[in-house]
Amino acid sequence: MAKQKKYVYFFGGKKAEGKAGMKNLLGGKGANLAEMTNLGIIVPAGFTITTEVCTAYYENRKKYPKSLKDEVMKNLAKIEKTMGAVFGDKDNPLLVSVRSGARASMPGMMDTVLNLGLNDITVQGLIKMSGNQRFTYDCYRRFVQMYGDVVLGLKPEGKEEDPFELLIQQKKKEKNIKYDSELKAEDLKELVSQFKAMIKSKLNIDFPEDPIEQLWGGIGAVFSSWMGKRAIEYRRLNKIPEDWGTAVNVQSMVYGNMGNDSATGVAFTRDPATGEKKFFGEFLINAQGEDVVAGIRTPQPINKLGKRDEKEVSLEEAMPEVYEELEGIYKKLEKHYKDIQDIEFTIQKDKLYMLQTRVGKRTAAAAVKIAVDMVNEKLIDKKTAVKRVSPEQIDQLLHPTIDPKAKVEVLAKGLPASPGAVSGRVVFSAEDAVKWAKNGEKVILVRIETSPEDIAGMDAAQGILTGRGGMTSHAAVVARGMGKCCVAGCGALEISYEKAQFKAGEVIIKQGDWISLDGITGRVILGKVPTINPQVSGDFGILMSWADQISKIHVRTNADTPNDARVARDFGAKGIGLCRTEHMFFGGNRIMAVREMILADDEPGRRKALDKLIVMQRSDFEGIFEAMNGLPVIIRLLDPPLHEFLPKETRDMEALAKEMGISVEKLRQKSDSLHEMNPMLGHRGCRLGISFPEITEMQARAIFEAACGLTKKGIKVIPEVMIPLVGHENELKNQKAVIEKIAKETIKASGVKLKYMIGTMIEIPRACVVADRIAVDAEFFSFGTNDLTQMTFGFSRDDAGKFLADYYKIGILKVDPFATVDQEGVGELMKMAIAKGRKVNKKLEIGICGEHGGDPETVKFCHRIGMNYVSCSPYRVPIARLAAAHAVLEESKK
Ligand code: PEP
Ligand code: MG
Repeated sequence: MAKQKKYVYFFGGKKAEGKAGMKNLLGGKGANLAEMTNLGIIVPAGFTITTEVCTAYYENRKKYPKSLKDEVMKNLAKIEKTMGAVFGDKDNPLLVSVRSGARASMPGMMDTVLNLGLNDITVQGLIKMSGNQRFTYDCYRRFVQMYGDVVLGLKPEGKEEDPFELLIQQKKKEKNIKYDSELKAEDLKELVSQFKAMIKSKLNIDFPEDPIEQLWGGIGAVFSSWMGKRAIEYRRLNKIPEDWGTAVNVQSMVYGNMGNDSATGVAFTRDPATGEKKFFGEFLINAQGEDVVAGIRTPQPINKLGKRDEKEVSLEEAMPEVYEELEGIYKKLEKHYKDIQDIEFTIQKDKLYMLQTRVGKRTAAAAVKIAVDMVNEKLIDKKTAVKRVSPEQIDQLLHPTIDPKAKVEVLAKGLPASPGAVSGRVVFSAEDAVKWAKNGEKVILVRIETSPEDIAGMDAAQGILTGRGGMTSHAAVVARGMGKCCVAGCGALEISYEKAQFKAGEVIIKQGDWISLDGITGRVILGKVPTINPQVSGDFGILMSWADQISKIHVRTNADTPNDARVARDFGAKGIGLCRTEHMFFGGNRIMAVREMILADDEPGRRKALDKLIVMQRSDFEGIFEAMNGLPVIIRLLDPPLHEFLPKETRDMEALAKEMGISVEKLRQKSDSLHEMNPMLGHRGCRLGISFPEITEMQARAIFEAACGLTKKGIKVIPEVMIPLVGHENELKNQKAVIEKIAKETIKASGVKLKYMIGTMIEIPRACVVADRIAVDAEFFSFGTNDLTQMTFGFSRDDAGKFLADYYKIGILKVDPFATVDQEGVGELMKMAIAKGRKVNKKLEIGICGEHGGDPETVKFCHRIGMNYVSCSPYRVPIARLAAAHAVLEESKK
């Protein structure tokens, strides 16, 4: 007989059945509770129901595997034995929590039930055990409330109001008190009865008094919450597959709210915002776990180091012995896991229990610092350090910060929960944030505190500001995960949802007003603020240099101005992969000359205008070559359809007609004659140079005159001329001949030695198919994946946004093919082009210069298919460098 599959794993006591390496089966929480047990750290005993049960549950119309019941009951008995308490017992009752635990952490996205096992009988036992009536009835009240909300569904997802809270409010009014903590034992006892009565009246069922029934209710609720709206949305945002499922952890309760010798807290082994090596955390005396993260009471710092003012009492001062024990544990955990840990603990009557440890979420700045520090501390090697920082994440470091020279009016100061500097218009609900952002508005979501329901609004907002909660509040944790700027716990603000405003001292900020947030200092600032650009230096520079040692593919940049070229060079670009010359045509008084050239009736007319243009083009190229001294620069010849340069407004038409000495009428006729039905497939790219070779001549002359002139001055110029939109080898031959003739003439006349290359863009599907013919005349290929995607899918790159949203919704496509290369379609064409091209020309240099060149997934793909370089916008250069290193590391993993 086949061995019965094991669905339940025990932890706690001396030895656990699981371990850290079993995350896929036990979820992160369950695997780490097992690992802590095995490390000799005290955790409340419990068991984990595996993620396989979740998957089976959904595959079998919400039915559990047959053997599960038996296993759960056996493991419940084991908890009883380990904890010395009995589930449902009238004298010595065991109570448990039921929590989710997926492979990847999904904070607050799924349901939890605490204090499970309480009923009118066991409650007496808990009174006896704790010696505290008020505490006991508070536990009972919380349990019935949570069970009612979560298991019985009285607080449907997405609804703000909790019907039980209304009864609590009523009770406080009746007793004339302000805070929940002022409710007495009898009040809480009455509330339990009222809660149960409400359940009866609303659902026509009795509250289940049988602890076993309660347990299965709790387990079912957690599994169901895997398919809840919040969880689905979070999975979509974080690309977590649905078939991973969640595990369920049933664990004996310990109480941080048993009195002033009890407490609960969360901590990080290093500072998750800055990465600084200091034990960092928050706790609350006489509270249950959820109170710390919910941001309802502002927690106290864990140690003296974290104190913001003298009044605060740290755990180190309040319970020095427990603190010392906690210090020992955090050090042990960090050394064991070799990474920053995010831990949760509870102190029950001076006894410390660890409830959770997991790899800590951190800001990009912290990720970089921790990775570099841990290499210096010999905890990890350089490769691991590079692996620990994700390319997507460092986008955060490449964002501007507030210009320190700017005069700003600070409205208030909160906690610097997640870095960045953003400006936006104030909104007070997640719904509004989504709505306004859809209309193209930049918004800042202001909430008293955030909850998992706000997730879509947080995603849509530029930044998040909360009035309550600490560095580990929901807002802070989620914002850091999203890489969003967040200022949390800004207690000085009086936020009123009703009036749609907040008050900071005397200043009233209404919905729609502009404010700015500084996520580094926690400042809330009136109006918009100027910002400055980031730099790759310090630890970041060190990490990037390690990445470069690993990667094989180079990173170039797309830059059309000397300034962009310098920024990219500072970010580590190894050359320019695309300089779009048409962008230069719009600047200053160039556009007039360009228009004259376009509208000229014949070649002499065009040449006259080109003579004006060459002076400007030459100096444009000089600027760029100088900035890239010693590095290669690909300059692409004119590409867009000509009518893009013509004036559209009557005023501009009149000015141009005057300049050219023709009537507005004549000008309009000319302009109309250039109109095309389908301009992206029209007279553009190399087709322009083929029709008007004098344009190619002018551009080639400007390039080589600039290059030769600078070479004479001792600047090393490596020009690479690129011909756009080639689909047939004869197009390339035609343009190459024009360029070569000018190059030879110019170099000879100047008397310098200059090496150059001529190559082509590969951006038409036909070019991929006949790449072997094209490669005969090309020294390099550069994939223009913007056009290649457009023409392979037949999706207009300018209009696809209209229908792509529908495609994502239905699941036809998962990601935007204009952002991440479609590997199965466009990618196959690329592979074909590379294979055919290299077959006839072994030395062919191959790169990519479409927008995809800065997308980490695409960079990795380009590495795998054997390109020499990727080229992307300056601010994405470090992202691409890191992705290039990850590409190698991921390969060696296989
Ligand atoms: C491309 O098509 O990918 C490309 C880089 O050229 P452009 O975006 O200028 O058409
Ligand atoms: Mg193109």
